[in-house]
Amino acid sequence: MALSEFELIDILRSACGHSRADVVIGNGDDAAVLEIPAGQQLVVCTDTLIAGRHFPLDTDPADIGWKALAVNLSDLAAMGASPAWCVLALSLPKADANWLRAFARGFAELAAQHDVALVGGDTTRGPLSITVCAQGLLPAGTALTRAGAKAGDVILVCGRLGWAAAGLALKQCGLPDEVRASIPASIQAQCIVALDRPRPWVAVGCALRGIASSAIDVSDGLLADLGHLLKASGVGADLQLESLPGYRELRQHLGAERARDFVLAGGDDYALCFTVPPRLRDAALSALQACDALEFAEVGCIRAAPGLQVVDADGESVNLERKGWDHFG
Ligand code: ADP
Ligand code: MG
Repeated sequence: MALSEFELIDILRSACGHSRADVVIGNGDDAAVLEIPAGQQLVVCTDTLIAGRHFPLDTDPADIGWKALAVNLSDLAAMGASPAWCVLALSLPKADANWLRAFARGFAELAAQHDVALVGGDTTRGPLSITVCAQGLLPAGTALTRAGAKAGDVILVCGRLGWAAAGLALKQCGLPDEVRASIPASIQAQCIVALDRPRPWVAVGCALRGIASSAIDVSDGLLADLGHLLKASGVGADLQLESLPGYRELRQHLGAERARDFVLAGGDDYALCFTVPPRLRDAALSALQACDALEFAEVGCIRAAPGLQVVDADGESVNLERKGWDHFG
């Protein structure tokens, strides 16, 4: 069923009807007007998903809708911001009502979970691409940044690493048949969910205000993203491979080398990596427990000398150069 641009917008508007009291003028005018409470700062981010590049072409549209918002909420979480609003720029190859309804359902499900109002957007014809711009709020001056890590701080990761990369490998038949066949169905399903329905660590990010000295969300792989944090903070780090959330179970099912590659450099994790001064370590652990963050771990510590070293269970240094990862060190 081919629809006009206005009918398409109506589908989105009715599916994503969740609103907030601070939306003064919402969807339907030339621009939205939003109320920012006194003493709060506005935190803004945007991320684009392109078909075939950021998700496989046969991805369920509901999962695409969920993920387009999730990747943005993950960025807000890494700043310690509480998400509030978003706009959605959609480029669609054809006016397919069923596709759009499913997309809107996935998008709206996550938006409602985090009290995010869709306050506007743009709809055009073109290759499938989805851009969300999300806005959040935080008390003035409390943003978590990449730049505050200090020597002696502990490094924590909230959320499993490597499982989304394993999900992509499963979807794209990137694993040898005997490996795939040996992975229990329930583990395979969890890998696919990690890829298609990442859970942004919004409550954790907010709870870490005043506790974490720095934070980043892991979207391009831990080595790359922790590398950005270390560079911004002017420090180095030592990590224990064994302690990375999700690593042991992946190793059990995929083998040590594949598990290590996925956990360190897989990408699409949307985990939260952050640092905490030693005196606030217990406060951080309590905050994580209070958020029902089930999967988190202390994974290493910050040192003054630049560089990044990863040691395995035997205390051996993982050779990051061999993989071409040396530029993260
Ligand atoms: P304009 O031509 O003034 O830019 P549009 O006709 O493109 O307005 O959009 C009409 C209304 O629908 C606007 O409020 C716009 O924000 C909203 N809108 C358009 N596309 C989307 C979308 N993909 N998601 C949410 N709102 C949208
Ligand atoms: Mg206009």
